[in-house]
Amino acid sequence: MPKTKKTAAKSATKPKKTTAKSQEATPKKPAHPIQSVRGMRDTLPVDQPHWLRVKTAVEETAGVYGFDRIDTPLVEETALFIRGVGKATDIVEKELYSFETKGGEQVSLRPEGTASVVRAYVQHGMLNLPQPVKLWYMGPMFRYDRPQSGRYRQFMQAGFEALGDDDPIVDAQLIIAGWNLLRKLGIESIVKVNSLGTTDSRLNYKNALVAYFRSKKAKLSDEDKKRLLKNPLRLLDSKDEAIQELKAEAPQIVDWLDEDSKSRFMRVLEYLDEVGVPYQLDPYLVRGLDYYERTVFEFYAAEDDQELAQAALGGGGRYDQLIEQLGGREDSPAAGMSLGLDRIVSRLKDMDKDQDPHQALLDLSQCDVFLAQLGDMGRKKALALFEEFYTAGIPLAEAFSKANIKSQMEIANRRGAKWAVVIGQKEVLDGTAIIRDMDAGTQEIVDVKKVVNEIKKKLASLQK
Ligand code: AMP
Repeated sequence: MPKTKKTAAKSATKPKKTTAKSQEATPKKPAHPIQSVRGMRDTLPVDQPHWLRVKTAVEETAGVYGFDRIDTPLVEETALFIRGVGKATDIVEKELYSFETKGGEQVSLRPEGTASVVRAYVQHGMLNLPQPVKLWYMGPMFRYDRPQSGRYRQFMQAGFEALGDDDPIVDAQLIIAGWNLLRKLGIESIVKVNSLGTTDSRLNYKNALVAYFRSKKAKLSDEDKKRLLKNPLRLLDSKDEAIQELKAEAPQIVDWLDEDSKSRFMRVLEYLDEVGVPYQLDPYLVRGLDYYERTVFEFYAAEDDQELAQAALGGGGRYDQLIEQLGGREDSPAAGMSLGLDRIVSRLKDMDKDQDPHQALLDLSQCDVFLAQLGDMGRKKALALFEEFYTAGIPLAEAFSKANIKSQMEIANRRGAKWAVVIGQKEVLDGTAIIRDMDAGTQEIVDVKKVVNEIKKKLASLQK
């Protein structure tokens, strides 16, 4: 930044001499074309059919389970995430995209959705609505993580949050909704579940954990030693091989759970049994966000041999303190889950890898009516007629930049058009339009003023 300022200042005081020649010169071609920012990807048209499938499944599932949509801003005060997600979490400590605005506010791109949804719930007085308030969202999240397969700096999450209710059936239904959503997409998944107890019972467990890992300190990496000090539960999440081995002997949280948490956890599991959701108890599942307590869970794709895929497709849990921590009423329990849509899409792509992705895109762009034109007059009239169809809410395919009728008809066929409306010079002069039945090859001439209605009738006959 200072460098730019300096250059700007320099050029302001010392204007460059411009010659007639340099004024005329066209801008130089850059040595390297600009690429998308590391860890952030384009979603190209060929991938859109998969994304559409996933987004539709999210929307439909949210509707069935009674969640209302909420959209929150991509940018929030940094304090929201420090207070909400937790200061000593990787997400806040290392991965926040934070910046100061021109007005001096400290803001960040959201790394996840729950903190924002809770902020909105408090800010808009949703505590006064009948509880639970059930909200869902879908949108991009940002984490400055090391990009790798399945891990991006901008990624899409869809989340369901049930606020203001502490019944374990809420936890179970969130798990069931996520599991069903994946199943709807053809992904068989298994849920890893654990209970983190309450803040108090967890404190005792934390102490036991710290004592255990302290006794093994020599085997810990520098990073893990830091975790031991700041956020010992996160040690259980470490991918470090030494920790993986040490974990086997580490104290397990179930042995430290308070009675109430234990019985709530049992009820969650009973509900899952009732519906037949496959789950695995994972005593070391802790999740990377500080706000969780009691139930936590993660979804993993079940491979053929029941081995679980490496990366979680989603996860969630109960966060009974977060609403209060963000300024809401005391005793406002809540639970939620979120799914990583990039990973789900990538699984669907793997599952469909024998299909031609371009065909899927073509299938998506199928259109019953094509508007063809011939000659300048025909093209002009067709352009105006397109607007009439648009106003009437009738989707129409066209190829206005093509003059040749044969190539237009080829496109009409590719788009699956059943009828082509054709306008040439003669039709413009006569005030008519030709409607061609693409399958039968028959044609009829209609008054151009009635063509929208005629097409409407034909489309209606398709519905019957
Ligand atoms: P979390 O908000 O960390 O609980 O993550 C919920 C889900 O979002 C994970 O299970 C992943 O599927 C997905 N996810 C989290 N971080 C990333 C990332 N950096 N890139 C892609 N997906 C992610």
